[in-house]
Amino acid sequence: MAEMDYDKMVDRLYMGLPDKSKSGERFEMPTAESLVQGSKTIVKNYLQIVKQVNANERHLLKFITKETGTSAGVKEERLYLNRKMGSHQVQKIFEDYIKQFILCPECGKPDTKAVEKSGVKMLKCEACGALSAVKGL
Ligand SMILES: [Zn+2]
Repeated sequence: MAEMDYDKMVDRLYMGLPDKSKSGERFEMPTAESLVQGSKTIVKNYLQIVKQVNANERHLLKFITKETGTSAGVKEERLYLNRKMGSHQVQKIFEDYIKQFILCPECGKPDTKAVEKSGVKMLKCEACGALSAVKGL
């Protein structure tokens, strides 16, 4: 009798648990909020994106200046680009960066960090453990 009660309790315990770990929350691509002001383009939520995807801010900035062919600076939360750019162009640069340097090529999760393995920089995924060689990391 006592055993049965225990089984029931365990059943109830497991049934009541939300099964979030298996569904796997999908990565949500951040949206760059940009606007053109004079001859500059401002990304209003730049540092917010950096934090959201846990990016190396200096590496990202280097990537952006290379992609846009212009100089850029960060002031407070914002990124200032010294040229006019449409919001779609800006968004694409962020997406390219995130796909290339943030998302794990194996499982697609953003839980990665740059590590060095015998002098070569690799992307290590904390979610699936994959170690990927990423050019330009
Ligand atoms: Zn992974």
